Amino acid sequence: EIIEMGWNLDNSYLTLPKSFFTKINLNPVTSPKLVILNYPLAKSIGLDSDALKTKEGVSVLAGNENIEEGAFIAQAYAGHQFGNFTMLGDGRAVLIGEQITPSGERYDIQLKGSGRTPYSRGGDGRAVLGPMLREYIISEAMYGFGIPTTRSLAVVKTGEVVYRETKKEGAILTRVAASHIRFGTFEYAARFGDTKQVKELADYTIKRHFTNIDDNENKYINLLKEVIKKHASLVAKWQSVGFIHGVMNTDNMTISGETIDYGPCAFMDNYNPDTVFSSIDRNGRYAYKNQPSMAMWNLCRFAEALLPLIDENQDKAIKIAQEAISDFSELHYTNWISIMKSKLGIFNEEAQDKAIIEDLLSMMEKYSEDYTNTFISLTFDKNKDKGMFASPEFDNWNNIWQERLTRQPQSKEEVHQMMQKSNPAVIPRNHRVEEAIEAADRGDFNVLRKLLEVISRPYEHSKDQEEYTKLPKRSSCGYKTYCGT
Ligand code: AMP
Ligand code: MG
Ligand code: MG
Repeated sequence: EIIEMGWNLDNSYLTLPKSFFTKINLNPVTSPKLVILNYPLAKSIGLDSDALKTKEGVSVLAGNENIEEGAFIAQAYAGHQFGNFTMLGDGRAVLIGEQITPSGERYDIQLKGSGRTPYSRGGDGRAVLGPMLREYIISEAMYGFGIPTTRSLAVVKTGEVVYRETKKEGAILTRVAASHIRFGTFEYAARFGDTKQVKELADYTIKRHFTNIDDNENKYINLLKEVIKKHASLVAKWQSVGFIHGVMNTDNMTISGETIDYGPCAFMDNYNPDTVFSSIDRNGRYAYKNQPSMAMWNLCRFAEALLPLIDENQDKAIKIAQEAISDFSELHYTNWISIMKSKLGIFNEEAQDKAIIEDLLSMMEKYSEDYTNTFISLTFDKNKDKGMFASPEFDNWNNIWQERLTRQPQSKEEVHQMMQKSNPAVIPRNHRVEEAIEAADRGDFNVLRKLLEVISRPYEHSKDQEEYTKLPKRSSCGYKTYCGT
């Protein structure tokens, strides 16, 4: 019957040296109940939703049942957390295996909150319903925006109490990822293994994610360059939707370039580049505006792990790696300006484009304008009677922008279309996410379902979404997110 669910697992990770993972015995939970299931995702990876909803299916999603072909391992990794090197690993997750989809793609299927592992340190290995729903909502929103991300297949309640500040309802999230190889996996190999192990991990990673550089004599420096490119693009995309990851530790950065670890992340309302939501990020290390430099810092840690593979002569290796990393800023800028230009309907290139974008952002900051809604107002030429929009400096900026739009061959309609598909109307606003989680905590999942449905089509701009573009009644300034839950 397990076959009928559509599982088609492979376990290539097991070909790595044994130090990279530990086999896990399942930690069954008392009475698992399905809370939410991602039908389109299930289908796209070859799983049968109806079968996943049965008692047996839920059993698998709760980590109560083995699949014979599964790997059931916890992965070892290390990482720099807020700048400090630490040994980590999956402390509350188990990798079921790699699902080979009908179209031949390979995705890790991981249960998060599935119980203790040898990497749990002091933790209980469990997860709480609210934060797992939060990850589900925000990762699916990112997918809707077209931003590379791990995805969420399902959340089940475990029927068990999890102790945090208070008693909470336990839950398990099924995460789907291109892989779970992190910068920290390389740091782990470099620090606790030998060069041979780093090489095995690098070769494995190239085979899995970067087949284009497979037989290249400079494949390790090219691996670094490919990862630099992915993150330059990823961070620019985050910024373009006002996303703040919140915990960009090197163990939370994937080699594949997918966003991972939706702990303390959030979207900003009013534009302020200093925005920090995470309660533990006291110095603003991972503030909105610091994300590019922090990604670059993390890439340095990744590069350090690769040094022995880049050149036998370490001085030479360092020079080569530094050169590659120094391209990050330019790559990030190229991605950023291209996305920001499309948000303003600009197709061609002019020297003053950067100033047009930056002037708009500083006005938004000065007048505390909502990031998302400002671009919607510009796109649809509406709600432009208050705040920034009523200021003389906006008039001035608007004239410059309008004139700029005439210096390209595209018509007004083409500009409008470009802006429509570049500016999401709905983002998972903090008060909406909280509202959905609170209702779910009371056993009402309709608010969650409706939110998920709306954020799955952020560029549609339909009437029924309008409610979701509204700001919270009281300003959500001071909104705090918590991780470690
Ligand atoms: P994070 O800050 O979410 O990246 O988590 C850092 C590390 O803590 C990871 O290795 C997690 O597996 C581990 N961890 C987080 N919560 C728990 C928990 N409740 N029990 C065991 N390990 C945990
Ligand atoms: Mg993490
Ligand atoms: Mg986390």
